[in-house]
Amino acid sequence: MESRNQSVVIDSIERAGITLHMKREDELHPFISGNKYRKLKYNLLEANTIGANTLLSFGGAYSNHISALAYAGKKFGFKTIGVIRGDELGESLETTLKNNTTLKQAFENGMRFKFISRAHYRNKQTDDFIAALREEFGNFYLVPEGGTNALAIKGCEEILTEKDQDYDFICVAAGTGGTISGLINSAFDRQKILGFPSLKGVFLEDEIEKLTPVKNNWKLIHNYHFGGYAKINENLISFINEFYEQTTIPLDPVYTGKMMFGIADMIKNKYFNKNCKILAIHTGGLQGISGMNQRLLKKNLPLINI
Ligand SMILES: *Cc1c(COP(=O)(O)O)cnc(C)c1O
Repeated sequence: MESRNQSVVIDSIERAGITLHMKREDELHPFISGNKYRKLKYNLLEANTIGANTLLSFGGAYSNHISALAYAGKKFGFKTIGVIRGDELGESLETTLKNNTTLKQAFENGMRFKFISRAHYRNKQTDDFIAALREEFGNFYLVPEGGTNALAIKGCEEILTEKDQDYDFICVAAGTGGTISGLINSAFDRQKILGFPSLKGVFLEDEIEKLTPVKNNWKLIHNYHFGGYAKINENLISFINEFYEQTTIPLDPVYTGKMMFGIADMIKNKYFNKNCKILAIHTGGLQGISGMNQRLLKKNLPLINI
């Protein structure tokens, strides 16, 4: 599957003489969108090969990965189990589903949940915890949190194709680093990959180095996490809304909005040479907008108008 590259036309870019395109991976599928489709593809094929009939994975209450896994499970005939951070959400499933469209949709796609405390969630990758899950649910194919493993990276290597050879920079939002690792592996020789972490902290460099040991064609830009994962402010919201008005491209507030804000800011600060060509990957995540808007509403902040 291949997505289109859409030209992004905003004033600051035209003035700088730079070409900016966005690869619309968000259009691959309304629910299994963007990089989560790429990351699941070879994992689902593997689960099928080994005869697994259940997929289990982990995520937060608004996780794009959980949303994609539930839909993919339904579409390709797997049972799905989501181990979700926050035991308070398990107190009343009815209330939780009423207040959370991500989980509601996953539930309607057949996913069953196990809600666990934040302390347990931190230990979720230990052998004991996994063994206890196998006791409870029987055998399952384990997809790691955020979906990142070797097969996920293989899937993300398919994001770039021959038609993308002319770009000088490939920009992408980064969470666990799986998606950028795929791009690092499949980039053409003179291309540079810029990652925009949505989390605070520098641990991601180590992670990506482990995943792509022989490569040095990449760099992380740490200035645009807005305080950390899923943290946003009014500046970011108005940027996302104006960007949508000007380009018709919807951005999500957790990943692609921050990346694009960063790219626009870096263009303004002359980080990129005149006439350079940038391809920004739209990794999807749009399902998370309604959940974010509910939180913004409670805080009396302006909403994302998409
Ligand atoms: C999950 C996600 C990412 C981060 O991908 P990683 O492979 O974990 O780095 C980026 N963008 C969107 C929209 C996502 O949902």
